[in-house]
Amino acid sequence: MMQRWSKILPFLMALAMVAMPSSLVAAKEQAPKPKAGTATASAPSAASAVVTEMRHWSNPDYTRVAITADREVHYETHQIKQHPDDALPSRIYLDIPGARVGPGLHDLKIADEQLKTARVGQYKPDVVRVVLDVDRIKEYKVFSLSDPFRIIVDVKGNRPLEFKNLTEQIHAAPVNTPEAKVPEKPLPKPPASFKPGKIRRIVVDPGHGGHDPGAVGAGGTQEKDVVLSIGRKLAEKIRDELGIDVVMTRSTDVFIPLEERTAIANKVNADLFVSVHANASLNRNASGIETYYLNLAKTEKAAQLAARENGTSLEKVSLLQAILFDLMANYKLNDSAHLADEVQKALYKKINGHYSGTRNLGVKQGPFYVLVGATMPSILVETAFISNEDEEARLKDPAFLDRSADGIVDGIKAYIGAIGSSR
Ligand SMILES: [Zn+2]
Repeated sequence: MMQRWSKILPFLMALAMVAMPSSLVAAKEQAPKPKAGTATASAPSAASAVVTEMRHWSNPDYTRVAITADREVHYETHQIKQHPDDALPSRIYLDIPGARVGPGLHDLKIADEQLKTARVGQYKPDVVRVVLDVDRIKEYKVFSLSDPFRIIVDVKGNRPLEFKNLTEQIHAAPVNTPEAKVPEKPLPKPPASFKPGKIRRIVVDPGHGGHDPGAVGAGGTQEKDVVLSIGRKLAEKIRDELGIDVVMTRSTDVFIPLEERTAIANKVNADLFVSVHANASLNRNASGIETYYLNLAKTEKAAQLAARENGTSLEKVSLLQAILFDLMANYKLNDSAHLADEVQKALYKKINGHYSGTRNLGVKQGPFYVLVGATMPSILVETAFISNEDEEARLKDPAFLDRSADGIVDGIKAYIGAIGSSR
């Protein structure tokens, strides 16, 4: 979990702009000429923001572009269609008033199925313009993340792919993230009693890392360290016990932005995505295990947790909920709920078997940025409360971390068994 409650208001404004309906499903608009998707909520400040970085992640039917600025900025989303009759834009562009292009910032040659290039320039003395040249797309979404401030453009392709094509493209496009590691040693054979079926690769995502410690216990235990430890064990067990390939979003103490985590999972064509966290509450008595999947928060507590894991405010989370339905177009809701259910059950059983009296907080729903954009069943596991004295002590015990990994593996195994027998 993260505690960052400052810098709330500017985010609200930025997200409110994104939440305006006209900026959402651009594909449905029939604007005859470039049309502002959003309006600037206020005049740019006198001091210029600097657009520092532009990155992209491609997979065969999905591209994500992240534009980083050194501070909160407003932005306007526009699109250009070649002909008024065209349903889809041939260019998407964002204007960022009150900003300048940073040194070293350059155009991206993307050349995937969806986008040709991402170009950046100083359109006016105080306006940075980013232009995405579209190849073929079905739709796009724009939203922002904080700390550092990033504008995320998610572009979905419309090309039905044949499997052969898909395999070639994945091999042709190596993962450009050093943290995403594919195991070098050959996978062991799964036990004869277990059939991995169509689940061939799982992404394990230890939360936080680097400058982001996540939640910190009264005894000084940091969430980023314990979840990395669980994540490593989990990866090893999935490979050794299930014979399934694993990619970790991070296997060391480094910071990985939230948008990159699901982008990695999409890029390596993962079949499941499991994000591992430790919980925290101002109420030191709060304890137990809970598992989340992406949806609107059903309770105030779930919304608060999402705000902390997202590194944003509760207000921003409620605004995210307003656009979540659109962002979730590709999300495997039922499969994610099923995976969450199996993992929660198995993890609780494993932990309670050793520490009786452990609380089973159940499966819940929340708007977690780290799950936005995932195209495979994906969940977020809150293994224990680092803010609780007893559970913090457990999180320091390697045997507890090992049991937690065992419990999650048991849940994944049960999920695979269930989908194997039902399809
Ligand atoms: Zn966390």
